[in-house]
Amino acid sequence: MAARALIAGNWKMNGTQATAKALAADLAARCNTVPMLPRIALCPPAALLGLVASTISGSPIALGAQDCHAQQKGAHTGDTSAWLLKDIGCSFVIVGHSERRADHGETDILVKSKAQAALDAGLMPIICVGETEAERDAGKAADVVRRQVAGSLPAGATAANVVIAYEPVWAIGTGRTPTPEDVRAMHAVARETYAVGRSDGADVAILYGGSVKGSNAKVLLALPGVDGALVGGASLDAADFWTIIDATPRR
Ligand code: PEP
Repeated sequence: MAARALIAGNWKMNGTQATAKALAADLAARCNTVPMLPRIALCPPAALLGLVASTISGSPIALGAQDCHAQQKGAHTGDTSAWLLKDIGCSFVIVGHSERRADHGETDILVKSKAQAALDAGLMPIICVGETEAERDAGKAADVVRRQVAGSLPAGATAANVVIAYEPVWAIGTGRTPTPEDVRAMHAVARETYAVGRSDGADVAILYGGSVKGSNAKVLLALPGVDGALVGGASLDAADFWTIIDATPRR
């Protein structure tokens, strides 16, 4: 089991300077009220990273980005390197989110190269995997997750430097979640795949993502093999996100 659970908020393409500052400040203030917190990360849009970095400075909240480029620098208009993310205070970067796999055609090979760049820059990649509804209906969910985990992990990945997020695509933003048994089973598939050729499979953090909210967090986060959550919509509401943090078993 991973050393300490991680609750990461993926704000996606939401927020303004004013709302981001208010949300980050609200969460940072709540941290002072609780002694034993899980690891917490906020992943705002790239343009708001600097503002959120200064707002959470001095709090236990870590900063994460939603994507990075695989190269350190160069002619890549609109992209951000993992090295710059590290330089502006990020500790984490999400790679291979299903929205990027779908909207930008990101393949396992590209996701792996981004995760490698993250490691090389000193960031912890949160590597997202998960099947579509059609793949689940066709009985291929486990195969898809096996292929994505095996294909997206960078060389040198260890439980100390990567996080995996199992996010069934059909559960993202829909209000639907898999059954607890399905979550447990898919996390076991991801963990077994990670563990091929590695001795620290029991320690790698595997987050669940897909319509986690205050009302279902306790059940999902208590499941064996679930080491935290990647939270989209509910992370935009300080009270709901805090309920999720509060529901996280202290390990
Ligand atoms: C996500 O996009 O990573 C996610 C889990 O979104 P939501 O919580 O809104 O389903």
